[in-house]
Amino acid sequence: MIKITCFAGKRVALFGLGGSGRVAARALIAGGAHVTAGDDQAANIATAAAEGIPTGDLASADWSGFEALILSPGVPLTHPVPHWVVKRARGADVEIIGDIELFVRERQHVCPQAPLIAITGTNGKSTTTALIHHVLQSAGRLCDVGGNLGPAVLGLSPFTPERHYVVECSSFQIDLAPSLDPTVGIQLNLTPDHLDRHGTVQNYAAIKEQLLSGVPRTGLIVCGVDDGLSEAMADRAEMSGTRVERLSVRRPVSDGFYLDGHILMRARAAAATFAVDMSRCPALKGAHNAQNAAAAFAAAKHLGLEDDEIRRGLETFPGLAHRMERVGRVGNVLFVNDSKATNADATEKALSSYETVFWILGGKAKDGGITSLNGFFPKIVKAYLIGEAADAFAATLGSAVSHEICGTLERAVEAAARDAGLAAGPEPVVLLSPACASYDQFPNFEVRGAAFREAVRKLPGVTAP
Ligand code: ADP
Repeated sequence: MIKITCFAGKRVALFGLGGSGRVAARALIAGGAHVTAGDDQAANIATAAAEGIPTGDLASADWSGFEALILSPGVPLTHPVPHWVVKRARGADVEIIGDIELFVRERQHVCPQAPLIAITGTNGKSTTTALIHHVLQSAGRLCDVGGNLGPAVLGLSPFTPERHYVVECSSFQIDLAPSLDPTVGIQLNLTPDHLDRHGTVQNYAAIKEQLLSGVPRTGLIVCGVDDGLSEAMADRAEMSGTRVERLSVRRPVSDGFYLDGHILMRARAAAATFAVDMSRCPALKGAHNAQNAAAAFAAAKHLGLEDDEIRRGLETFPGLAHRMERVGRVGNVLFVNDSKATNADATEKALSSYETVFWILGGKAKDGGITSLNGFFPKIVKAYLIGEAADAFAATLGSAVSHEICGTLERAVEAAARDAGLAAGPEPVVLLSPACASYDQFPNFEVRGAAFREAVRKLPGVTAP
């Protein structure tokens, strides 16, 4: 755990006692702050109190003595309406910050040399975060990973100059971290998301951009340019005088990384050189993963790794669970768990990455269903439908794709394995990429993915992928 000393001797209110909130409370207390913690859920208050965290009624507290409100990123700051605790803090002119802000203030104070790599974007944050961690670690660097992915940021190892911190930042976390000043700041891409919490796409983009504007002159800004809003951020970043590397998987760029077939190229001052052959990176299939790899390459290069070390890291990345995760093989049939794909956009990435697809999908449908995926229907040999959405999806697939309503995931795996075993082609893929939330049959996408893995594990003749 990282001790937060910048509030030593001060009174601090903390609201939101989930996992990261409780770690923040302990980090502040360890650093000498006087914390009063609250939550809207009695069960969370009880858990915190049992861990020795001082709790109190923040609704009736005297706010004039609080130095700051430490807010959990899940609590509405602005939209749809500010939470009551936010209104109380604002009314008393108390600053509102989150755990990443505490982390960066402490780093500035005790160990500004420790490299901080901060990653945001609408999609690919977790993959890129895990990838950078893997690349740095496999090159022998001391490295911690956390934030939105993995442990809360204040649960990481105490600062030392040689330790690298790779931190995934959601827009909610950035909104609460005005001093965020990463050594390498990465903004991957931006599509409308979480607008219920950010109001407009412009507001959402402006929050993401704060992660780039905090990068110091000696640091590196890495920015995807395949969508207009991110490209505009890269253009504005150029003005800051900090070095900017652009990423595109659609067209060449003159300073940064771009994809040429399956080769990732690095361009500097109009000369392009080979960076990595993506066909040698089995856990990074698809153009979207080339964007993630490009971001990792740029970051690792800035931190002084050799090209060969970076390539080795990218090639040996095991992938993240539930994101196009290769879970088994029977003969030449590959089984892929993409349970994290809870909407059609995410499923599109998986469908574009494989050729001969036996597709397991369904669950609790999102608006629009799977109609946007019809361009991929020709490469789907057969679809296996599960959950609530089965009938509606069967209607969308119609006569364009052969399909079967299986009901449960187990039955779908059996049926798909049977059919794929008879298929021609070098590598038929049984793909769980549901394009749906899991709640009708599973508590969350992780449990759904684990059930898929388990069903595959039981198939006769299954081996490691
Ligand atoms: P996040 O943490 O931002 O939600 P993940 O790395 O968990 O992102 O990936 C979630 C899904 O988003 C993946 O299953 C994939 O379909 C898609 N994805 C991953 N990387 C990218 C990218 N660079 N651009 C667009 N989509 C991506």
